[in-house]
Amino acid sequence: MTSIAQARPASFEVVVPPAADGSTRARLGRLTLPHGVVETPQFMPVGTNATVKALHPDDLEAVGASIILANTYHLFLRPGHERIERLGSLHRFMSWDRPILTDSGGFQVVSLADWRKIDEDGATFRSHVDGSTQRLTPESAIAIQEALGADVAVAFDHPVYPSSERSVVQDATERTHRWAERCVSAHRREDQALFGVIQGGLEQDLRAASTLFIASLPFDGLNIGGLAGDETPIQRRETIDTVIGLLAGDPRPRYLMGLGSPADLLDAVDQGVDLFDSVLPSRVARTAQVWVPGGRLNLRNAEFLDDPRAIQDGCGCLACSRFSRAYIAHLFRARELLAYRLATAHNLTFTLDFMARIRLAIRSRRLPEEMAALRLRAGRNGADGDATMAGKAAGDPA
Ligand SMILES: [Zn+2]
Repeated sequence: MTSIAQARPASFEVVVPPAADGSTRARLGRLTLPHGVVETPQFMPVGTNATVKALHPDDLEAVGASIILANTYHLFLRPGHERIERLGSLHRFMSWDRPILTDSGGFQVVSLADWRKIDEDGATFRSHVDGSTQRLTPESAIAIQEALGADVAVAFDHPVYPSSERSVVQDATERTHRWAERCVSAHRREDQALFGVIQGGLEQDLRAASTLFIASLPFDGLNIGGLAGDETPIQRRETIDTVIGLLAGDPRPRYLMGLGSPADLLDAVDQGVDLFDSVLPSRVARTAQVWVPGGRLNLRNAEFLDDPRAIQDGCGCLACSRFSRAYIAHLFRARELLAYRLATAHNLTFTLDFMARIRLAIRSRRLPEEMAALRLRAGRNGADGDATMAGKAAGDPA
Protein backbone atom coordinates (compact mmCIF):
# COMPACT_ATOMS: atom_id res chain seq x y z
CA MET A 1 0.00 0.00 0.00
CA THR A 2 2.86 2.37 0.82
CA SER A 3 4.27 2.44 -2.70
CA ILE A 4 0.80 3.12 -4.13
CA ALA A 5 0.24 5.92 -1.64
CA GLN A 6 3.57 7.53 -2.50
CA ALA A 7 2.77 7.54 -6.21
CA ARG A 8 -0.40 9.50 -5.44
CA PRO A 9 -0.70 13.26 -4.85
CA ALA A 10 -1.34 12.59 -1.18
CA SER A 11 0.80 10.50 1.11
CA PHE A 12 -0.04 9.83 4.72
CA GLU A 13 2.47 8.71 7.28
CA VAL A 14 1.43 7.54 10.74
CA VAL A 15 4.10 9.03 13.01
CA VAL A 16 2.73 7.70 16.30
CA PRO A 17 0.41 4.69 15.95
CA PRO A 18 -2.54 3.97 18.28
CA ALA A 19 -1.58 2.75 21.75
CA ALA A 20 -0.68 -0.95 21.78
CA ASP A 21 -2.57 -1.43 25.06
CA GLY A 22 -5.82 -0.21 23.47
CA SER A 23 -6.09 2.79 25.80
CA THR A 24 -6.62 5.11 22.79
CA ARG A 25 -7.01 4.77 19.04
CA ALA A 26 -5.65 8.28 18.55
CA ARG A 27 -2.71 8.54 16.18
CA LEU A 28 -0.32 11.24 15.05
CA GLY A 29 0.13 11.61 11.31
CA ARG A 30 1.59 13.70 8.49
CA LEU A 31 -0.49 14.21 5.38
CA THR A 32 1.68 15.49 2.52
CA LEU A 33 -0.25 17.32 -0.20
CA PRO A 34 0.85 19.32 -3.27
CA HIS A 35 0.67 22.63 -1.36
CA GLY A 36 2.13 21.51 1.93
CA VAL A 37 2.17 19.17 4.90
CA VAL A 38 -0.75 18.80 7.31
CA GLU A 39 -0.01 17.50 10.78
CA THR A 40 -2.87 15.34 12.04
CA PRO A 41 -5.13 15.25 13.99
CA GLN A 42 -6.10 18.53 12.37
CA PHE A 43 -9.05 20.90 12.06
CA MET A 44 -9.86 22.62 8.76
CA PRO A 45 -11.49 26.08 8.95
CA VAL A 46 -14.30 26.40 6.41
CA GLY A 47 -13.97 28.95 3.61
CA THR A 48 -17.43 28.56 2.14
CA ASN A 49 -17.20 31.14 -0.64
CA ALA A 50 -13.41 30.94 -1.09
CA THR A 51 -13.00 32.99 2.09
CA VAL A 52 -13.10 32.11 5.75
CA LYS A 53 -15.66 34.75 6.68
CA ALA A 54 -14.10 37.98 8.02
CA LEU A 55 -10.49 36.79 7.74
CA HIS A 56 -7.65 37.84 5.43
CA PRO A 57 -5.37 34.96 4.34
CA ASP A 58 -2.65 36.47 6.56
CA ASP A 59 -5.07 36.13 9.50
CA LEU A 60 -5.63 32.49 8.57
CA GLU A 61 -1.91 31.85 8.66
CA ALA A 62 -1.70 33.67 11.99
CA VAL A 63 -4.39 31.46 13.57
CA GLY A 64 -2.33 28.45 12.48
CA ALA A 65 -4.46 27.06 9.65
CA SER A 66 -2.47 24.52 7.64
CA ILE A 67 -5.38 23.49 5.41
CA ILE A 68 -8.81 24.95 4.73
CA LEU A 69 -12.01 23.64 3.19
CA ALA A 70 -13.92 25.36 0.40
CA ASN A 71 -17.43 24.43 -0.70
CA THR A 72 -17.86 23.03 -4.20
CA TYR A 73 -21.61 23.71 -4.20
CA HIS A 74 -21.19 27.41 -3.42
CA LEU A 75 -18.32 28.01 -5.85
CA PHE A 76 -20.14 26.12 -8.61
CA LEU A 77 -23.16 28.44 -8.19
CA ARG A 78 -21.12 31.61 -7.64
CA PRO A 79 -18.73 32.72 -9.14
CA GLY A 80 -18.56 29.49 -11.16
CA HIS A 81 -15.71 26.96 -11.36
CA GLU A 82 -14.94 27.83 -14.97
CA ARG A 83 -14.30 31.46 -14.02
CA ILE A 84 -12.02 30.40 -11.17
CA GLU A 85 -10.16 28.07 -13.53
CA ARG A 86 -9.72 30.88 -16.07
CA LEU A 87 -8.29 33.03 -13.30
CA GLY A 88 -5.66 30.43 -12.49
CA SER A 89 -7.02 28.10 -9.75
CA LEU A 90 -8.78 28.41 -6.44
CA HIS A 91 -5.43 28.90 -4.67
CA ARG A 92 -4.59 31.88 -6.83
CA PHE A 93 -8.13 33.27 -6.83
CA MET A 94 -8.25 33.48 -3.03
CA SER A 95 -4.51 34.01 -2.57
CA TRP A 96 -4.00 31.01 -0.30
CA ASP A 97 -0.85 28.97 -0.91
CA ARG A 98 -1.42 26.22 1.61
CA PRO A 99 -3.51 23.06 1.05
CA ILE A 100 -7.23 23.27 0.24
CA LEU A 101 -9.85 20.53 0.33
CA THR A 102 -13.08 20.95 -1.61
CA ASP A 103 -16.09 18.98 -0.40
CA SER A 104 -18.34 17.11 -2.82
CA GLY A 105 -21.37 19.39 -2.74
CA GLY A 106 -23.63 16.50 -1.77
CA PHE A 107 -24.29 17.79 1.73
CA GLN A 108 -25.24 21.29 0.53
CA VAL A 109 -27.59 19.88 -2.12
CA VAL A 110 -29.43 18.06 0.67
CA SER A 111 -29.27 20.81 3.30
CA LEU A 112 -29.42 24.12 1.40
CA ALA A 113 -31.11 23.84 -1.94
CA ASP A 114 -34.69 25.12 -1.90
CA TRP A 115 -35.82 22.04 -3.80
CA ARG A 116 -34.06 18.87 -4.90
CA LYS A 117 -34.67 15.60 -6.66
CA ILE A 118 -32.18 12.76 -6.49
CA ASP A 119 -32.16 10.19 -9.27
CA GLU A 120 -29.72 7.44 -10.13
CA ASP A 121 -27.65 9.67 -12.38
CA GLY A 122 -27.36 12.71 -10.08
CA ALA A 123 -29.15 15.49 -8.23
CA THR A 124 -31.30 18.27 -9.66
CA PHE A 125 -31.91 21.19 -7.34
CA ARG A 126 -32.93 24.82 -7.15
CA SER A 127 -30.08 27.19 -6.36
CA HIS A 128 -30.44 29.00 -3.02
CA VAL A 129 -28.64 31.95 -4.66
CA ASP A 130 -30.89 32.80 -7.60
CA GLY A 131 -33.57 30.11 -7.77
CA SER A 132 -32.19 28.64 -11.00
CA THR A 133 -32.42 24.90 -11.62
CA GLN A 134 -29.03 23.23 -11.40
CA ARG A 135 -27.71 19.70 -11.63
CA LEU A 136 -24.76 17.84 -10.15
CA THR A 137 -23.69 14.33 -11.03
CA PRO A 138 -20.68 12.35 -9.81
CA GLU A 139 -18.90 13.23 -13.05
CA SER A 140 -19.72 16.95 -12.94
CA ALA A 141 -18.87 17.24 -9.24
CA ILE A 142 -15.43 15.82 -10.04
CA ALA A 143 -15.02 18.07 -13.11
CA ILE A 144 -15.90 21.13 -10.98
CA GLN A 145 -13.38 20.15 -8.31
CA GLU A 146 -10.71 19.50 -10.93
CA ALA A 147 -11.34 22.98 -12.32
CA LEU A 148 -11.09 24.50 -8.84
CA GLY A 149 -7.82 22.63 -8.40
CA ALA A 150 -7.80 22.00 -4.65
CA ASP A 151 -5.24 19.59 -3.21
CA VAL A 152 -8.02 17.20 -2.21
CA ALA A 153 -11.34 16.53 -3.97
CA VAL A 154 -14.16 14.51 -2.41
CA ALA A 155 -16.39 11.97 -4.17
CA PHE A 156 -20.02 13.07 -4.73
CA ASP A 157 -22.22 11.32 -2.19
CA HIS A 158 -25.84 11.17 -1.12
CA PRO A 159 -25.97 12.09 2.57
CA VAL A 160 -29.08 11.71 4.72
CA TYR A 161 -29.84 12.83 8.25
CA PRO A 162 -28.59 10.34 10.85
CA SER A 163 -32.12 9.78 12.17
CA SER A 164 -33.54 8.85 8.73
CA GLU A 165 -35.42 5.58 8.57
CA ARG A 166 -33.50 2.51 7.51
CA SER A 167 -34.89 2.23 3.99
CA VAL A 168 -33.87 5.84 3.26
CA VAL A 169 -30.37 5.28 4.68
CA GLN A 170 -29.95 2.05 2.74
CA ASP A 171 -31.04 3.59 -0.55
CA ALA A 172 -28.73 6.62 -0.13
CA THR A 173 -25.80 4.47 0.99
CA GLU A 174 -26.04 2.12 -1.97
CA ARG A 175 -26.32 5.10 -4.33
CA THR A 176 -23.27 6.67 -2.65
CA HIS A 177 -21.35 3.47 -3.47
CA ARG A 178 -22.34 3.51 -7.14
CA TRP A 179 -21.49 7.20 -7.33
CA ALA A 180 -18.14 6.57 -5.61
CA GLU A 181 -17.15 4.15 -8.39
CA ARG A 182 -18.18 6.72 -11.00
CA CYS A 183 -16.12 9.41 -9.24
CA VAL A 184 -13.04 7.19 -9.22
CA SER A 185 -13.49 6.59 -12.98
CA ALA A 186 -14.09 10.28 -13.69
CA HIS A 187 -11.17 11.69 -11.69
CA ARG A 188 -8.21 12.54 -13.93
CA ARG A 189 -6.08 15.15 -12.21
CA GLU A 190 -2.83 13.59 -11.11
CA ASP A 191 -1.89 16.50 -8.84
CA GLN A 192 -5.11 16.19 -6.83
CA ALA A 193 -6.00 13.60 -4.20
CA LEU A 194 -9.47 12.06 -4.08
CA PHE A 195 -11.22 11.08 -0.85
CA GLY A 196 -14.27 8.79 -0.69
CA VAL A 197 -17.26 9.12 1.66
CA ILE A 198 -18.54 6.36 3.94
CA GLN A 199 -22.28 6.60 4.66
CA GLY A 200 -24.66 4.15 6.37
CA GLY A 201 -26.32 6.41 8.91
CA LEU A 202 -26.68 4.91 12.37
CA GLU A 203 -27.49 1.44 11.01
CA GLN A 204 -24.35 -0.33 12.12
CA ASP A 205 -24.56 -3.14 9.54
CA LEU A 206 -25.00 -0.61 6.72
CA ARG A 207 -22.21 1.53 8.17
CA ALA A 208 -19.89 -1.49 8.27
CA ALA A 209 -20.76 -2.50 4.71
CA SER A 210 -20.18 1.07 3.53
CA THR A 211 -16.81 1.22 5.30
CA LEU A 212 -15.65 -1.96 3.59
CA PHE A 213 -16.95 -0.90 0.19
CA ILE A 214 -15.50 2.61 0.17
CA ALA A 215 -12.20 1.32 1.60
CA SER A 216 -12.01 -1.19 -1.28
CA LEU A 217 -11.77 1.66 -3.80
CA PRO A 218 -8.45 3.43 -4.57
CA PHE A 219 -9.24 6.62 -2.61
CA ASP A 220 -6.44 8.61 -0.96
CA GLY A 221 -8.48 9.20 2.19
CA LEU A 222 -11.72 8.05 3.78
CA ASN A 223 -14.42 10.45 4.93
CA ILE A 224 -16.96 9.51 7.56
CA GLY A 225 -20.17 11.15 6.35
CA GLY A 226 -23.67 11.44 7.74
CA LEU A 227 -22.62 12.28 11.31
CA ALA A 228 -22.34 15.61 13.19
CA GLY A 229 -26.07 15.76 12.70
CA ASP A 230 -29.03 14.82 14.87
CA GLU A 231 -27.44 11.72 16.40
CA THR A 232 -26.82 11.39 20.16
CA PRO A 233 -23.23 11.33 21.45
CA ILE A 234 -23.63 7.61 22.19
CA GLN A 235 -24.85 6.89 18.66
CA ARG A 236 -21.96 8.87 17.21
CA ARG A 237 -19.45 7.00 19.36
CA GLU A 238 -20.88 3.64 18.35
CA THR A 239 -20.82 4.56 14.65
CA ILE A 240 -17.25 5.86 14.71
CA ASP A 241 -16.25 2.67 16.54
CA THR A 242 -17.80 0.58 13.77
CA VAL A 243 -15.90 2.48 11.07
CA ILE A 244 -12.52 2.77 12.78
CA GLY A 245 -12.63 -0.83 13.98
CA LEU A 246 -12.86 -1.98 10.37
CA LEU A 247 -10.16 0.46 9.21
CA ALA A 248 -7.65 -0.52 11.90
CA GLY A 249 -5.01 -1.64 9.40
CA ASP A 250 -5.85 0.86 6.68
CA PRO A 251 -3.01 3.33 5.97
CA ARG A 252 -5.20 6.22 4.76
CA PRO A 253 -6.32 9.35 6.67
CA ARG A 254 -9.83 9.38 8.17
CA TYR A 255 -11.88 12.55 8.03
CA LEU A 256 -15.09 13.10 10.01
CA MET A 257 -17.05 15.81 8.23
CA GLY A 258 -18.85 18.58 10.09
CA LEU A 259 -17.64 18.20 13.69
CA GLY A 260 -16.45 21.40 15.35
CA SER A 261 -16.80 21.71 19.11
CA PRO A 262 -13.53 21.10 20.97
CA ALA A 263 -15.12 18.47 23.21
CA ASP A 264 -16.45 16.55 20.20
CA LEU A 265 -13.11 16.83 18.38
CA LEU A 266 -11.26 15.41 21.38
CA ASP A 267 -13.55 12.39 21.65
CA ALA A 268 -13.34 11.63 17.92
CA VAL A 269 -9.53 11.93 17.91
CA ASP A 270 -9.45 9.49 20.82
CA GLN A 271 -11.47 7.11 18.63
CA GLY A 272 -8.96 7.38 15.77
CA VAL A 273 -10.16 10.20 13.50
CA ASP A 274 -7.49 12.37 11.84
CA LEU A 275 -9.25 15.29 10.10
CA PHE A 276 -12.22 17.56 10.81
CA ASP A 277 -13.99 20.62 9.46
CA SER A 278 -16.83 22.79 10.72
CA VAL A 279 -18.23 26.30 10.46
CA LEU A 280 -18.91 26.21 14.21
CA PRO A 281 -15.93 28.19 15.64
CA SER A 282 -16.30 30.98 13.07
CA ARG A 283 -20.09 31.05 13.09
CA VAL A 284 -20.46 31.33 16.85
CA ALA A 285 -17.73 34.02 16.80
CA ARG A 286 -19.97 36.18 14.64
CA THR A 287 -22.64 35.96 17.35
CA ALA A 288 -20.12 37.37 19.89
CA GLN A 289 -19.47 34.01 21.54
CA VAL A 290 -15.78 33.44 22.15
CA TRP A 291 -14.21 30.24 23.37
CA VAL A 292 -11.98 30.14 26.42
CA PRO A 293 -10.63 27.25 28.46
CA GLY A 294 -13.62 25.69 30.20
CA GLY A 295 -16.38 27.17 28.08
CA ARG A 296 -17.45 30.30 26.24
CA LEU A 297 -18.04 33.98 26.90
CA ASN A 298 -20.89 35.90 25.32
CA LEU A 299 -19.45 39.35 24.67
CA ARG A 300 -22.95 40.79 24.36
CA ASN A 301 -23.39 40.40 28.10
CA ALA A 302 -23.24 43.75 29.92
CA GLU A 303 -20.56 42.52 32.32
CA PHE A 304 -17.92 42.73 29.58
CA LEU A 305 -18.45 46.40 28.75
CA ASP A 306 -16.08 47.40 31.57
CA ASP A 307 -13.77 44.39 31.43
CA PRO A 308 -10.20 45.48 30.60
CA ARG A 309 -8.86 41.93 30.27
CA ALA A 310 -8.08 40.11 27.03
CA ILE A 311 -10.64 37.49 25.95
CA GLN A 312 -8.20 34.80 27.06
CA ASP A 313 -5.15 35.37 29.18
CA GLY A 314 -2.02 34.20 27.36
CA CYS A 315 -3.67 33.87 23.92
CA GLY A 316 -1.51 35.44 21.22
CA CYS A 317 -4.26 35.94 18.62
CA LEU A 318 -5.13 39.14 16.76
CA ALA A 319 -7.76 39.97 19.37
CA CYS A 320 -6.06 39.00 22.61
CA SER A 321 -2.65 40.47 21.78
CA ARG A 322 -4.04 44.03 21.53
CA PHE A 323 -7.65 44.44 22.59
CA SER A 324 -9.80 44.18 25.71
CA ARG A 325 -13.08 42.35 26.17
CA ALA A 326 -14.58 45.80 26.73
CA TYR A 327 -13.45 47.06 23.34
CA ILE A 328 -14.63 43.99 21.42
CA ALA A 329 -17.94 44.00 23.35
CA HIS A 330 -18.35 47.63 22.25
CA LEU A 331 -17.57 46.72 18.62
CA PHE A 332 -20.26 44.04 18.63
CA ARG A 333 -22.86 46.43 20.08
CA ALA A 334 -21.93 49.04 17.48
CA ARG A 335 -22.03 46.36 14.75
CA GLU A 336 -18.50 47.31 13.74
CA LEU A 337 -16.96 44.91 11.20
CA LEU A 338 -13.71 44.54 13.13
CA ALA A 339 -15.65 42.61 15.79
CA TYR A 340 -16.23 39.70 13.41
CA ARG A 341 -12.57 39.54 12.38
CA LEU A 342 -11.28 39.60 15.96
CA ALA A 343 -13.74 37.08 17.38
CA THR A 344 -13.26 34.71 14.43
CA ALA A 345 -9.48 34.91 14.73
CA HIS A 346 -9.74 34.12 18.44
CA ASN A 347 -12.06 31.11 18.09
CA LEU A 348 -10.00 29.59 15.29
CA THR A 349 -6.82 30.19 17.28
CA PHE A 350 -8.43 28.47 20.28
CA THR A 351 -9.54 25.51 18.14
CA LEU A 352 -6.24 25.03 16.31
CA ASP A 353 -4.26 25.47 19.53
CA PHE A 354 -6.49 22.82 21.10
CA MET A 355 -5.67 20.43 18.25
CA ALA A 356 -1.96 21.19 18.75
CA ARG A 357 -2.31 20.32 22.44
CA ILE A 358 -3.95 17.02 21.47
CA ARG A 359 -1.12 16.26 19.03
CA LEU A 360 1.45 17.02 21.72
CA ALA A 361 -0.27 14.59 24.08
CA ILE A 362 -0.30 11.87 21.40
CA ARG A 363 3.35 12.52 20.56
CA SER A 364 4.34 12.06 24.20
CA ARG A 365 2.06 9.01 24.37
CA ARG A 366 0.14 10.57 27.24
CA LEU A 367 -3.27 11.21 25.69
CA PRO A 368 -5.15 8.77 27.99
CA GLU A 369 -3.62 10.47 31.05
CA GLU A 370 -4.34 13.95 29.69
CA MET A 371 -7.91 13.35 28.51
CA ALA A 372 -9.43 14.73 31.71
CA ALA A 373 -7.47 17.99 31.53
CA LEU A 374 -8.19 18.38 27.82
CA ARG A 375 -11.92 17.77 28.45
CA LEU A 376 -11.87 20.46 31.09
CA ARG A 377 -10.23 22.88 28.65
CA ALA A 378 -12.74 22.01 25.91
CA GLY A 379 -15.67 22.83 28.17
CA ARG A 380 -19.12 22.39 26.72
CA ASN A 381 -18.47 24.46 23.61
CA GLY A 382 -21.08 23.69 21.02
CA ALA A 383 -22.74 21.02 23.14
CA ASP A 384 -26.04 22.89 23.06
CA GLY A 385 -26.83 21.70 19.60
CA ASP A 386 -25.43 24.37 17.31
CA ALA A 387 -23.09 21.88 15.66
CA THR A 388 -25.96 20.07 14.00
CA MET A 389 -26.86 19.61 10.36
CA ALA A 390 -30.19 21.25 11.20
CA GLY A 391 -28.35 24.25 12.59
CA LYS A 392 -26.23 24.50 9.47
CA ALA A 393 -29.23 24.30 7.20
CA ALA A 394 -31.09 26.98 9.10
CA GLY A 395 -28.10 29.21 9.69
CA ASP A 396 -25.20 30.14 7.48
CA PRO A 397 -25.12 28.46 4.10
CA ALA A 398 -21.87 26.61 4.71
ZN1 LIG B 1 -7.29 35.13 21.49
